[in-house]
Amino acid sequence: MDLDTRLKEVFRISEAQERALKRINISSIKDLLYYFPTRYSNATQVTKIASIHKGEYVLIFGRISGLKTSKAFRKKISMAEGVITDDTGKVKIVWFHQAYLAKMITEGSFVKAEGKVTERRGGLYISNPKIENVPDLFTNAKIHTLYPIYPETKGLTSNWIYHKIHKIFNSQILDKILDPIPQSILETYKLPDLKKSLIWIHTPKKEEHAQAARKRFAFEEIFFIQLERQQTRQEFKKRDTFVIDKKADDITGFIERFPFKATDAQKKCIEDILKDFHAKHPMSRLLEGDVGSGKTAVAATAVYAVATSKPKNQDFGTLQTAYMAPTEILAKQHFESFIKYFKHLPINIALITGSGCRKFPSKLNPDGWTDISRTQLLKWVASGEIAVLIGTHTLIQKAVKFKHLALVIVDEQHRFGTAQRQKLVSKTEVTPHLLSMTATPIPRTLALTFYGDLDLSLLDEMPLGRKKIITEIVTPERRNSSYEKIKEELATGRQLYVICPRIDEPDPTKELAIQAKSVQEEAKRLKKEVFPDYEIDILHSKMKPVEKEKVMQDFQDKKIDILVATSVVEVGVNVENASLIVIEGAERFGLAQLHQLRGRVLRGTHQPYCFIFADTKSAKTIERLKAIKTARNGFELAEFDLIQRGAGELRGSKQWGLSDLGMEAIKNIKMVEAARREAINIIDADMTLSQFPLLKEQLNTHSVQIHFE
Ligand code: ADP
Ligand code: MG
Repeated sequence: MDLDTRLKEVFRISEAQERALKRINISSIKDLLYYFPTRYSNATQVTKIASIHKGEYVLIFGRISGLKTSKAFRKKISMAEGVITDDTGKVKIVWFHQAYLAKMITEGSFVKAEGKVTERRGGLYISNPKIENVPDLFTNAKIHTLYPIYPETKGLTSNWIYHKIHKIFNSQILDKILDPIPQSILETYKLPDLKKSLIWIHTPKKEEHAQAARKRFAFEEIFFIQLERQQTRQEFKKRDTFVIDKKADDITGFIERFPFKATDAQKKCIEDILKDFHAKHPMSRLLEGDVGSGKTAVAATAVYAVATSKPKNQDFGTLQTAYMAPTEILAKQHFESFIKYFKHLPINIALITGSGCRKFPSKLNPDGWTDISRTQLLKWVASGEIAVLIGTHTLIQKAVKFKHLALVIVDEQHRFGTAQRQKLVSKTEVTPHLLSMTATPIPRTLALTFYGDLDLSLLDEMPLGRKKIITEIVTPERRNSSYEKIKEELATGRQLYVICPRIDEPDPTKELAIQAKSVQEEAKRLKKEVFPDYEIDILHSKMKPVEKEKVMQDFQDKKIDILVATSVVEVGVNVENASLIVIEGAERFGLAQLHQLRGRVLRGTHQPYCFIFADTKSAKTIERLKAIKTARNGFELAEFDLIQRGAGELRGSKQWGLSDLGMEAIKNIKMVEAARREAINIIDADMTLSQFPLLKEQLNTHSVQIHFE
């Protein structure tokens, strides 16, 4: 047996177990060793049966007997019962509706049961307890005081996993395990080595051991991501690039022409970019700013610096920019705004999307654009005549060849994977500068980890004079008065977004289907019961891209008054007239996400309103939601989310591909910084990890799987 041995080669595994293992991505010994308990049952919290009282929630251990199923009362509810006996006494347990639970337990075996003590006809019993087989050895509290509870999945019990882990430990395999994390790092941060950590995390004798082990694995997870990111960064930083020699003075003229005064944050970000442009190596920078914080103006200034620079050793022509947007509609919008920014300059701008190409200025109409053929466009891009090419992912197709591509801008960066990003920048021999832009507010620790290969610029200040979104937290009984307010606004010609709740489902395809259904049903309900006089349409991720684009276009053209959409689908358009947004099931969202959703109504000149509908009356939840009324920006809310909500609630594994432990690490800025520092030290000294064969192997095989989409 070694770490890569398949579990089914060494253990007898039923079909149901095999399916369950597959669902949680476990096939080898190593996978199972890295499947960690989420918590531990503490034997000291166990209640002896003789001392249980009515109304208490208790945890008991004992042997089960007398299991039988029957139909209860006259109502014919299925029912099961049994008796648990420990060394002090016995208690009856009863399940209603869940008779199948009894079948999962073997008569005469040791069990752990948790539930509330009830009394009926003078006798105590526990109804609908959580029950589980436990190893006999656990009943001897001296051997193990902490019993691991693994994340539950249908078909696999904690007990089964626990037994297998024991067998693996007994096989001496741990003696062969080498720790990839250098000894010196372990010592610096007082982390246990791998062997000890595995033992401590699965079979801790005391709480501190479990904690130390968890800390180590949390560090490990972040450290490997950092190593991988820092490697990417180093590779990038070694390449040649275009030196763009612009000073602050050279661009003041351009900035002064803006129809507004640039914010200090915008100026600072522009400075960061100009500084990068001077370096011999390519920029790779992430520009993070809330919706409406003015990222486009910053991007336009970067483009200006590039488009007014000449290729090396040449006194004609210009350097080029590729600007990639996530949707066709957005690409068109950027094309329009760039025309406004550049129309006083002799700079050619073009648009390429799946449905056609455009160029500005047009020969016939110097103030406007004209349609051109794709062939013509590709020719002009290749000859260097087009200084700025804006488009969707069509930009990364092979056929698009630039003459002097010096800057790549990726808007809404999280939509593009690292691979796509790499594809764009590796189109030419000399590596272009990269500017990624995102409006997704994420905590600093997450940014440092997942965007560890990028430098960070924050637009943490909103332009002056921006209308504030009037945000209301609406509890169920106040729904109707909100609908009345919305009707008043609709009557004056405004438009409304209705965002349907997030639905958490282990199976993503099923989740999308449920979400689509909730959108359809809510649209029907609104039409029938609330807004019969208005045009309502829907948008969800099960729709085809063309259908989506059509609905968005219709909304923009005001053929639709109310757009009911899921939270997962980016509306991706600027509809200035849409000044109203309703978010349903708000308690299911993080604050940062709510903030981002409401950002959609910030675009116009009308007073925007956001109605956050919560289905709960829980004072705590309402209190949490209220933070959204006072926070200054999305970053604040993202940090707030991180502190306030449990790691699990941040949907770490789903959104970022992190484990729960990894998410715990993300809460700890010191740990993230330490992992980052150590990774930088190692990669700076030895980029290919030739001195660290174990780290190298771990990075290549176990591979940190990061999901950007
Ligand atoms: P985002 O960061 O969401 O991409 P945009 O760049 O689209 O934001 O800017 C949103 C709006 O704010 C645009 O209409 C833009 O012209 C305007 N804007 C940008 N910067 C400023 C500023 N400093 N003062 C006032 N308005 C600004
Ligand atoms: Mg934008």
